[in-house]
Amino acid sequence: MSRMTNSKHYSTIVVGAGPAGIACAREAAKSGTVLIIERLPLPRHKSCGGMLNEYSQSFFAEEGIEIPADIVCEPRDIHFRYVGWDQKAFRGTNLHFVNVDRDSFDNWLITLLPENVEIWPETRFVGCKQNPEGITVQVRNANDPHAEVISLTCGYLVGCDGPRSEVRRQTPATKLALYKTLQDFVPITQPLEPYFDCLYTKKLGSEYGYGYVVPKGDVAIVGSVFYPGSKHVKELHEQAVDLFAEHYKFSTDAVAREAWVAVKVNTIDDISAGSGRILLAGEAAGIFSPSSGEGISFALNTGSRAGKAIASARETDTRIGKPYAPGESAALHLYADALEPIRSNVARRLLYFPFLDSHAAKIAGAIAPQALMNYVVHRI
Ligand SMILES: Cc1cc2nc3c(=O)[nH]c(=O)nc-3n(C[C@H](O)[C@H](O)[C@H](O)COP(=O)(O)OP(=O)(O)OC[C@H]3O[C@@H](n4cnc5c(N)ncnc54)[C@H](O)[C@@H]3O)c2cc1C
Repeated sequence: MSRMTNSKHYSTIVVGAGPAGIACAREAAKSGTVLIIERLPLPRHKSCGGMLNEYSQSFFAEEGIEIPADIVCEPRDIHFRYVGWDQKAFRGTNLHFVNVDRDSFDNWLITLLPENVEIWPETRFVGCKQNPEGITVQVRNANDPHAEVISLTCGYLVGCDGPRSEVRRQTPATKLALYKTLQDFVPITQPLEPYFDCLYTKKLGSEYGYGYVVPKGDVAIVGSVFYPGSKHVKELHEQAVDLFAEHYKFSTDAVAREAWVAVKVNTIDDISAGSGRILLAGEAAGIFSPSSGEGISFALNTGSRAGKAIASARETDTRIGKPYAPGESAALHLYADALEPIRSNVARRLLYFPFLDSHAAKIAGAIAPQALMNYVVHRI
């Protein structure tokens, strides 16, 4: 990692060192120089349940990469369980997750980058200007709003900067709605069962989407997800922690609490591949599971597709002597095509979501036959 001076040119600049950014940089680096800029210090911290679903596990398996033991928490293997709290229904399923420490996971991803990728931590993307031949990107020290703005140039800019993407704002893409999340890390006095519990209760009112409890070694994460616009997030989260402590016997004296946001995909038009020489991946592209709240596999898969599109794009092959129209580029065309199966996957989940999110479905989840539960959780 090194800090370069003004006016340097890169084939690709990636904004964000999360799973989308790292997966993108790995692929884009196959055809040129890559710079990742990251607002946070590295190793970065991202609020997360640390549940690697089967798609995330397959992503690494297909690349021949083994998930190292030292980023995994106890218990390693976790299954999804739906909890209808008001009915006291605990419905385990065969949906499997690997339980990782998210900070260690993100730090490990960085070790997978090749030599020709530079990373500038604590550097913020502040703006860009694109023309048919390339992009000028402005960045500055993330900790000093008065720091000098540095201009860099690149062939492609990839926004992998998460749910509040600033790169997305440079494109005509829609403004994304955001869930609010709170997570407490609570000490556990007895081992919890190896489940990723997703809890629903009517008692906490209409702002409360759902809660989750997951064991992480000698603590548990107790999380709450609130619909966009919710006003009583802290009070309701604390009520949820108190309520669930009765069953799980964890201490309500949290050792840490974190507040974050996650994308709420409202329509399929929220998904955007980008515009011109700007590509978007992960949550910045509006890609997030509307039904399961999972985002790591989508970030890995979209980031890697964006990077592959850049590495294989040959601007001159298709340009036929003319510049691309504003809003187009060879890599964007390739990426938009590669994104189509993921768009369809999210579209299918969006179709189910109004029913899955209804009170009726949550009651049904408490009594549905086991085979149906297993089928549904693998589809959403
Ligand atoms: C509470 C919570 C729990 C979750 N639990 C799970 C889970 O168990 N399993 C799962 O699969 N998913 C989970 N998710 C979702 C998952 O964490 C995200 O979907 C995933 O991290 C998205 O990856 P990304 O690379 O798109 O963005 P991010 O991981 O958000 O990375 C974006 C990066 O861009 C940087 N950045 C932002 N703006 C700028 C800027 N202007 N300049 C430079 N850098 C910038 C940020 O600092 C950040 O590091 C959870 C989300 C939340 C909020």
